[in-house]
Amino acid sequence: MSTLNFAISHRDGAARRGVLQTAHGAINTPAFMPVGTAATVKAMRPEDVRETGADIVLANTYHLMLRPGAERVARLGGLHKFMNWERPILTDSGGYQVMSLSKLRKLDESGVTFRSHIDGSEHRLTPERSIEIQHLLDATITMAFDECTAWPVSEADAAKSMRLSMRWAQRSREAFKQRGGYGLFGIVQGSVFPALRAESIAALTNIDFDGYAIGGLAVGEGQELMFGTLDTTMPQMPADRPRYLMGVGKPADIVGAVLRGVDMFDCVLPTRSGRTAQAFTRRGTVNLRNARHQDDQRPLDEACRCPACRQYSRAYLHHLTRSEEVLGLMLLTGHNLTYYQDLMAGLRGAIEAGNLAAFVAAFEQQQAQGDIAALAGTEE
Ligand SMILES: [Zn+2]
Repeated sequence: MSTLNFAISHRDGAARRGVLQTAHGAINTPAFMPVGTAATVKAMRPEDVRETGADIVLANTYHLMLRPGAERVARLGGLHKFMNWERPILTDSGGYQVMSLSKLRKLDESGVTFRSHIDGSEHRLTPERSIEIQHLLDATITMAFDECTAWPVSEADAAKSMRLSMRWAQRSREAFKQRGGYGLFGIVQGSVFPALRAESIAALTNIDFDGYAIGGLAVGEGQELMFGTLDTTMPQMPADRPRYLMGVGKPADIVGAVLRGVDMFDCVLPTRSGRTAQAFTRRGTVNLRNARHQDDQRPLDEACRCPACRQYSRAYLHHLTRSEEVLGLMLLTGHNLTYYQDLMAGLRGAIEAGNLAAFVAAFEQQQAQGDIAALAGTEE
């Protein structure tokens, strides 16, 4: 029995169109979750994040436990109130950031001790403490505490890491306080080894989670290995629960994963790229720092509904990024998130209409076109 209600209304091949009902509102799937690491989607007001079409945002346990502290967020009324986002929030467990950001970490059977990347202070995360922190934050969806398996990795090391994560998944389940409309997701590990992924799925479904995430991908293995892993693992995942591919990805990665039955995504790409002058458009990526845009009065993406595209020229966006003006980060982040959310809405509509294959063919054809030609006489 899940405390989250997940209803799939349409299928097209392996792709699913669904609605996940939570205590903080509905999540239309396939869904893209903007990353709000430190209780903010960088450069965006929450109302503007919502305006892009996001139903849910992600926040990071690791960052928030270090600053401002989970107990403080709880005293201040929880994360929704603290960051002025009343809709669903998914928190990661902290496992991934401990491995990628912290210093002097020491892993043992019970958890991991590490030093903060901010001030060097010592902290400890265990499955029980991670679940407690996510409870204090009032996360709508809590993630089980796991070890994100490194890449590249031998099958023996991947097995050892995955089995530790499965023992931690059991402890996460026992520590989680079940409430209506709140959920706990388990994380499938096993790197790119089909037998290990199968073992991990069996262990997690035996414990029983409200949703199942696929971890340990998008760590440098490349799209072919990622899709290959999805091809073998997705058919084994429980059909009636949401499936979340962590940390993915580029627009083409998301489209390919939706085709393979993934329901939820998160990635820093649209927000991080928005802060480095990289725009995602219907015709592929555009670097607004390029001098070809300096006299170009055309919009970044003619078909886009976002403020950056409706109210400003490429020339102005180019000027903002070259001058390192804050408005440039805001406009481009907003554009990239709008593009991602419109892509998700397009995928949902295509699954409903049963014409996903045609939608994907048009997406690929448009992306392959590349950006509109530079103005005559403009240097590339
Ligand atoms: Zn736009």
